[in-house]
Amino acid sequence: MAGRARHADRGETQGKKGLTTGTAPFSPHLNKQIMRIAVVGSGTAGPAAAILLALQGHNVTLMERAPRRLPVGAGFLLQPTGWSVLRELGLEEILRAQTTPISKLYCRTRSGQVLLNLEYDELSKGLAGAGTHRATLLNLLLDTAAGLGIELQWNTPILRMSRDTDNRPCLWDESDRMHGPFDLLLICDGANSTLRAQCGVPSRVDCYPWGALWFIGKRTQDFDHHVLWQSVGSTRELIGFLPTGTDDDLLSLFWSIRLDQIEAWRKTPLAVWKRQILELAPQAETFLHQITSHEQVTAAAYHDVRMPCWHAERIAILGDAGHALSPQLGQGVNLALMDASALANLLHQHPLDKALALYSKQRRAHLNFYQFATRWMTPFFQSDLLPLGWMRDLAFPCLMHIPWARKEMVATMAGGKTGLFSSMI
Ligand SMILES: Cc1cc2nc3c(=O)[nH]c(=O)nc-3n(C[C@H](O)[C@H](O)[C@H](O)COP(=O)(O)OP(=O)(O)OC[C@H]3O[C@@H](n4cnc5c(N)ncnc54)[C@H](O)[C@@H]3O)c2cc1C
Repeated sequence: MAGRARHADRGETQGKKGLTTGTAPFSPHLNKQIMRIAVVGSGTAGPAAAILLALQGHNVTLMERAPRRLPVGAGFLLQPTGWSVLRELGLEEILRAQTTPISKLYCRTRSGQVLLNLEYDELSKGLAGAGTHRATLLNLLLDTAAGLGIELQWNTPILRMSRDTDNRPCLWDESDRMHGPFDLLLICDGANSTLRAQCGVPSRVDCYPWGALWFIGKRTQDFDHHVLWQSVGSTRELIGFLPTGTDDDLLSLFWSIRLDQIEAWRKTPLAVWKRQILELAPQAETFLHQITSHEQVTAAAYHDVRMPCWHAERIAILGDAGHALSPQLGQGVNLALMDASALANLLHQHPLDKALALYSKQRRAHLNFYQFATRWMTPFFQSDLLPLGWMRDLAFPCLMHIPWARKEMVATMAGGKTGLFSSMI
């Protein structure tokens, strides 16, 4: 419970403009009703929000459909925005010891032309992202939640919700067992959310035709420890390598693939795939020796979820359930953490109804920017629209020579943009 131990002396705000996390949510919840809160989904948004609200004194129950903790997922990039929330949770130091600082994103074409060479330092000295495994962050959040006495109900898939006579949400699991009623429900059940469609807020969900194959192995010396390295061919070929934590010195490989080609890929000898990879990333040869069967490689699909707001009466929607996006800009986990922080801070300061309305209002600019930017960028890197690849290869190297444009791209990567001309970093 090292995370909580640190809260006694916290209360600091962060140095960077806008990356403050508001009033300290860990101080006792003054003059406020203690709420009974249900959090559905224990990915990133769920446990982060549960911890922040339990520290305010609320009675929080976390419900998760998985039977137990599973080390699922690959590496992801924790951005400065995500770090700001981990600092608020008191978990920054512990996690830093288990992550690899990422100083830049480097992306080149098959022929070696540099498309992107974006260094966090350009925005602010010492600024960096971090590569880590999804399970590392999850374990830390769940250990902290357990240490706070938050009830975590595994093996509890929530299938539907209803309201009691006071309009308080009640939840029904797979065995038709009712949970609740609750004063507040947080919907954090991810991109394939079951509850999103039942909460009364309209939503639109699209599945991208392109997803990814990923594999985690031991990093070889051929890859820089601090660089997210990518290489592209046409818009149909993209590979990325992300250093993924210090403990085992891992490296995550991501390979872009059309979802309808995954079955064909499984039937094709691995040697064919490895040859394609080496055309884009010749230095991967030794790393690839670790892949000896198709079963070691996992496929992922991506969704685009749009909602006009992220709250209803006594309900808030957090993370991918409310705004899943393609991982092109590497923001999923960071946005989920920012949601949790924003909601907890608002609930600390305002009555429930007002806090929920302000939550949607406060998150709108940040979420809209990343949803728009991701939708706009993705076809340049993952699509069948080949001319977009030619445009990309002409435009990006030019943009890299314009200091203003480069800085804007770094701010976008760092997770802080709230509009075309505004940023919280
Ligand atoms: C298995 C998995 C692997 C992932 N791997 C990566 C990765 O390698 N790299 C990366 O950048 N991003 C990954 N993501 C996405 C990334 O974790 C999310 O973008 C980010 O964590 C947003 O967090 P979230 O809490 O909104 O959603 P998620 O992290 O998706 O968490 C949602 C949680 O809700 C649970 N759930 C779903 N439906 C129900 C239900 N009906 N009842 C109860 N519980 C339910 C799920 O089991 C899950 O634990 C992965 C997501 C998942 C679910």
